[in-house]
Amino acid sequence: MPPRNGSIDTSPLAVYPGSFDPVTNGHLDIIQRAARCFPRLLVAVVANPSKQPMFTLERRVELLREVCADMPNVEVDRFEGLLVEYVRRRQAQIIVKGLRIVSDFEHEFSMAVLNRKLRGGADTMFVPASIEYAYVSSSSVKEVFALGGDIADFVPPVVLRAMAALRAPAVTSPARRKEGDQS
Ligand code: ADP
Repeated sequence: MPPRNGSIDTSPLAVYPGSFDPVTNGHLDIIQRAARCFPRLLVAVVANPSKQPMFTLERRVELLREVCADMPNVEVDRFEGLLVEYVRRRQAQIIVKGLRIVSDFEHEFSMAVLNRKLRGGADTMFVPASIEYAYVSSSSVKEVFALGGDIADFVPPVVLRAMAALRAPAVTSPARRKEGDQS
């Protein structure tokens, strides 16, 4: 949040990056806890996730903004390319990462070392996942949803509605229906 008097806000800024496709209650838990530790938190949505995303970048940002609306020190932004470049550009001091079960550790640890070593590098702080979300990932949520499972405990209601809307059959306009009508 920009300071009210128009001056530059120099209070420490932390960046929480991810693909958030979609944001889950696990992400939200990390955001809420990190926002209590840092004066300002920037949730940064990566523009180019390795896999084909379920939601567009704009929609992922929009959903995050909705679920973070009640946290005045949280800003949602997007970035492309190297995380450390983005961190430097935004003049942030720290990268925040959530750590789930052991399997996260190896990858996140090596990324943290790399991000510190790279030119203009930044340090990482890990927030351990809350036990109820330790096994929740965006990909598992999408998988369960695709198979018709109930994911209401794992994503915010607005995300559940957005996912349901994606699955709902597109309404065909009367003109199009006529076009396709073979009888
Ligand atoms: P995912 O791995 O679910 O696809 P992201 O790439 O968006 O998620 O992850 C962004 C960050 O959030 C990473 O630091 C990841 O470890 C963390 N994270 C994801 N899900 C959870 C969770 N359930 N609890 C804690 N941290 C999480």
